[in-house]
Amino acid sequence: MSALTDLIYAGSNAVAGLTEGAVNDAIAKHGADTPVAFPDTAYFFPTIYAATGVKVKTLGDLPACVGVLKSLITNQDDIGQALNAGLATAVGAEIIEGLKYIGGGDPYAEDSGIGFVPDPIIRSLGVPLVTGDIPGVAVVIGKADNAADVAKVVKDYQSKGILTFLIGDCIEQAAAEGVKMGLELRVVPLGHDVTSVIHVVTVAIRAALIFGNVQPGDLGALLTYTKDRVPAFVNTFGPLNEVVVSAGAGAIALGFPVVVDQNIGDLQVPGALEYEGNYDETVKRSLGLRNIHIKVKELPIPVAFAAAFEGEIIRKNDMQVEFWSSKNVTCELVTMRDAAQVDDHKITVVGPDIDSGETEYPIATYIEVYGAKMQKDFESVIERKIHAWFNYMEGVMHTGQRNQIRIRISKDAFEKGLRMHHFGEVLYYMIMDEFSAVVDKCQITLVTDPTEAKRILDEEATPAYNARDDRLASMTDESVDQFYTCTLCQSFAPSHCCVVTPERLGLCGAVSWLDAKATKELNDAGPCQPISKEGCTDPVKGYYPDVDRMVHEASHGALEHVSLYSIMEDPMTSCGCFECICGIEPMSNGVIIVNREYKGMTPTGMTFGELASMTGGGVQTPGFMGHGRHFIASKKFAAAEGGVARIVWMPKELKDDVAPRLNKTAKEMLGIDNFTDMIGDETIAEDAETLLNFLTEKGHPALSMEPLM
Ligand code: SF4
Ligand code: ZN
Repeated sequence: MSALTDLIYAGSNAVAGLTEGAVNDAIAKHGADTPVAFPDTAYFFPTIYAATGVKVKTLGDLPACVGVLKSLITNQDDIGQALNAGLATAVGAEIIEGLKYIGGGDPYAEDSGIGFVPDPIIRSLGVPLVTGDIPGVAVVIGKADNAADVAKVVKDYQSKGILTFLIGDCIEQAAAEGVKMGLELRVVPLGHDVTSVIHVVTVAIRAALIFGNVQPGDLGALLTYTKDRVPAFVNTFGPLNEVVVSAGAGAIALGFPVVVDQNIGDLQVPGALEYEGNYDETVKRSLGLRNIHIKVKELPIPVAFAAAFEGEIIRKNDMQVEFWSSKNVTCELVTMRDAAQVDDHKITVVGPDIDSGETEYPIATYIEVYGAKMQKDFESVIERKIHAWFNYMEGVMHTGQRNQIRIRISKDAFEKGLRMHHFGEVLYYMIMDEFSAVVDKCQITLVTDPTEAKRILDEEATPAYNARDDRLASMTDESVDQFYTCTLCQSFAPSHCCVVTPERLGLCGAVSWLDAKATKELNDAGPCQPISKEGCTDPVKGYYPDVDRMVHEASHGALEHVSLYSIMEDPMTSCGCFECICGIEPMSNGVIIVNREYKGMTPTGMTFGELASMTGGGVQTPGFMGHGRHFIASKKFAAAEGGVARIVWMPKELKDDVAPRLNKTAKEMLGIDNFTDMIGDETIAEDAETLLNFLTEKGHPALSMEPLM
């Protein structure tokens, strides 16, 4: 037997023994009927569910799984068989980790890791992964001889936007070397036991179920999906024991290459298991194995610039200066000019710089662009990106938009020399990089002078915002002559296609009709293609021959018909990254809507995660549909079923958020004032019966509408 297969089998057999013992002990202690589940997932024990279709719900379900696990370990001298034994190790790890959750507590409360990653987080990663904003996923395991080595590697991944999961003592090592952690910073500590690696493995596996429409039990399809579509890889630090090696074999079986820092000589398998002893090369070697190419952004600024810093929070004590609309005038404006009016790359600061000694300033960020192909409609598309670009600077926090913004600059960034003109450089560089197809010249003025900032706000920005709002309000599905596809999510959900219209944005909430239009202009053959409105066959349900044709094509023949406005008949497909999902609630003859952030129960008897698992992966599921938050107040929401009058329940936070717009829509369509007062939430009802009583008391319109089914 080869030394490598030997090691793998030794590890798998050890894990199998441990798992069997742990399952028997747990059953003896708690009883076979005791429920066991990971928190906030609709996919049971995801590895077992995806690979075999078995839904583990109680301890009594586990012995059979241990049987399957053991059958994967053939001890035959064959690398393919040995990789299967690696999968057995993954199953064992899943069971051992799952047992920690008996009783429903948080076994990771005392650990610096987070343990199991809930479904909604995976869904929220969909868009950044498809746009390449997160170019890859790194799994870092073990303990380095020198903490500085592992920290350097992790920081390098962070600066490249890679999502990195840490397992083992490398968590403390990275923290001690100043690595900032958290999901929003793209460095996620999972746990200290080597079995906690399963929590990243199930992220990849659930991605296949959520986005890929991989059917539970289809192991071949699962392995193809993770290999082709999940850009993950593994780095191990420190000595390798047989369990780590067999877990590594599991990773390789899923298509994730492993780079180790120990010289393993001829145990190496080119492309799958490689040694790299030089930590300056670890990142490059790992990215190369997965063909991940990162466009390095070299900006002339004194702080780091990376998407990984977008979620950074700057507290008051760490803050050097602040621009805040509650205290001073603030505004941001992108405006189109004639060629002669724009001096390319001219950056002007009007007023004091941030080293003048003050801690609070007004700010007007005033950007003038010229481009032969520039359109008025693209001004707001560019302007909305200021938020992300400013946040990408390490030590800068930006929230809000238009005239309601807040920017904080950290002491650290200030000491590194960050000043106002650097903000101008960032804007210039990013606009010319991302919008080069429509912007030929760009000039930037940053105003901290209170009088001039106020003048820009009153004379330029406010009228521009008003004009845009008027245009948006007047823009309906009827007033434009084409819609757009968005197929960006196909890298994860191969047959999914959003149809984006003025009154219905993409289900991720990130792509409006204007964004889609701009995307088409920026990337002619890209994910947003125009759809003709010619020959509409049913304006109420929203059937258009060209919608059907485009969706049929985009779904590679999987779909025949899509209605734009019906939930019950040929509803639009979902990829998995939707902000909200709506589902019918038969008792009240209406629909409930749940957002991804809501963790509680709904009157349908299902949580967000359970509802979400009803659809996704580019399939149509009448009665359930993913959509954006903004769509809720649209006159086209469930228009075929009677519109917003069907909405009977939403989580309170969501209801409050959409109330101003939804109430306006309901007033116009139904003549009802404060419609949201008639809609239930979790403080009113979490079951269908209580909800029905509430709706009856309020005289909710859904009760007297035509039966939904
Ligand atoms: Fe994905 Fe649809 Fe959003 Fe495009 S609009 S990114 S396809 S969810
Ligand atoms: Zn998506």
